[in-house]
Amino acid sequence: MRIGVLALQGAFIEHEKKLLECGAEAFEIRQRRDMARSFDGLILPGGESTVMGKLLQELELMKPIRQSIQDGTPVMGTCAGLILLAEHISGEDTVHIGTMGITAKRNAYGRQLGSFHTNAPFKGIGEIPMTFIRAPFIESITKAESLAEVDGKIIAARQENQLALAFHPELEQSAAVHEYFLSM
Ligand code: GLN
Repeated sequence: MRIGVLALQGAFIEHEKKLLECGAEAFEIRQRRDMARSFDGLILPGGESTVMGKLLQELELMKPIRQSIQDGTPVMGTCAGLILLAEHISGEDTVHIGTMGITAKRNAYGRQLGSFHTNAPFKGIGEIPMTFIRAPFIESITKAESLAEVDGKIIAARQENQLALAFHPELEQSAAVHEYFLSM
């Protein structure tokens, strides 16, 4: 199985390592021509969603990625990647890829709790460790299904071929979330 990892900015190398650990192949998507390769899934990593959104636009990657997701390619967006997938961003006019029926609230955990670690149950996997770094949460859902909550906030959701996570599974020892994604 070959997975394209968006490698413009942010935590993409950690995702590549996890994919290799799971026996999958990873390649980096840095420019438009990388989208011409054949692949079975896409990962949109954490980082800064405003910067990634701008680069996606400038490099003419936004449309081909959106199209590929709409055509059914499995995609996993983590943290900033969740924001890229969201149809709405709370309090902002920006929309990036916008294929997933969720509203994301950016930097939703205030300054003091900007980063934290916890364990919570994830539907279909069980209890897993979760690291949040200036994370968003999912404020509301129109089409997707909630897969996990922390303190009453939705922090993971799935809509058919799309998986969005507010936390960083690539930073954990466990590869359970990557295995889950590869099973999609
Ligand atoms: N705060 C970042 C944003 O709004 C997301 C943080 C992350 O991906 N770790 O895009």
